[in-house]
Amino acid sequence: MPRAAFTYEALPYRVVFGEGTLARAADEAGRLGIKRALVLTTPAQHAEGIELGHVLGERLAGSFPEAAMHTPIAVTERAIGLIEANDIDGLVALGGGSAIGLSKALSLRTGLPQIVLPTTYAGSEMTPILGETRDGIKTTQRRRDIVPDIVIYDVDLTMSLPASISATSGLNAMAHAVEALYAPEANPIISLMAEEGIAALARALPQIVASPSDRDARSDALLGAWLCGICLGAVSMSLHHKLCHVLGGSFNLPHAETHAIMLPHVVAYNAKAAPGAMRRIAKALDAPDAALGLFGLQRRLKVPLALADIGMPEDGIDLAAELATRNAYANPRSLDRAALRELLARAWRGEVPLS
Ligand code: NAD
Repeated sequence: MPRAAFTYEALPYRVVFGEGTLARAADEAGRLGIKRALVLTTPAQHAEGIELGHVLGERLAGSFPEAAMHTPIAVTERAIGLIEANDIDGLVALGGGSAIGLSKALSLRTGLPQIVLPTTYAGSEMTPILGETRDGIKTTQRRRDIVPDIVIYDVDLTMSLPASISATSGLNAMAHAVEALYAPEANPIISLMAEEGIAALARALPQIVASPSDRDARSDALLGAWLCGICLGAVSMSLHHKLCHVLGGSFNLPHAETHAIMLPHVVAYNAKAAPGAMRRIAKALDAPDAALGLFGLQRRLKVPLALADIGMPEDGIDLAAELATRNAYANPRSLDRAALRELLARAWRGEVPLS
């Protein structure tokens, strides 16, 4: 049988991966001609931002430790004022999706080059996607020119990520790879990365939860997160990401926990419609069944199992099922509102996915 036709397009970032790679930030800034960098972090990671500033040395012009979840435009506008007043010529973000989102939002408006140092497994650094919020309403756009120019992965920066956040953030990353395997634009390169990304995280996350200072596991997890981030940036996502977007937006549920809870249920929903992807997910998990393998991993990682436990009201299930089926989008199995309602009800109660 001939191979399925595909299109593959690579994004143009430079990636530096290793331990102690934070030390290379000044040289990397030099590659981009940055002489007056602005360091971006959340308030919680201001101390790491100061350390990064020391590494940048003469190339540092200021810091802005105000990045926040879902990239509020009001925060971005405050940072622009600082950029204009200080003649900033480059952005260096350290943190998870919040700090990296701010960097992308600023680059979009100013055209400034970006270096990012990810400290979670969320994967935003590898994508041309930016979600921003104004007055609580989130809009998402996809543009090649917001992809960071240089990504420095430093395993050391992930050592402080608490075990519980590592687990949910890692499952969030896995969800990108899972949906890449059944995406309409799935292609051989991205599917290889997806399978290896899932396998690396499935090996590493239980070890991190058991022993958060295990450097080998941290390194494996970061590599897996990188691969999963590439998947998110390369192909379109389906039902899982749509449901998580709806749940986060409608009920203000925490991002990574929502992904962690929903993934086995969505995989079970799509199982019969995407048998090839299911075989690859199961193989990567070293489990007989993809959905049950993910559910088992979730339990071993001691992450929340029920939407009820993270603040979702039971009477929101109908609304979520309605919103997730309101507009058409690609998914291996057609969107059936009653079946989605059942999926959400099981996830709300934390039950085994209906495989
Ligand atoms: P985050 O960046 O908000 O980080 C969560 C918290 O953990 C923050 O307080 C942060 O300071 C702290 N933290 C981060 N790394 C740490 C570390 N190593 N040690 C100790 N504390 C640490 O969370 P996130 O899950 O990385 O990102 C979520 C956000 O990113 C959401 O807004 C989501 O929509 C967005 N996102 C965007 C994309 C994209 O492609 N555009 C992809 C994934 C996520």
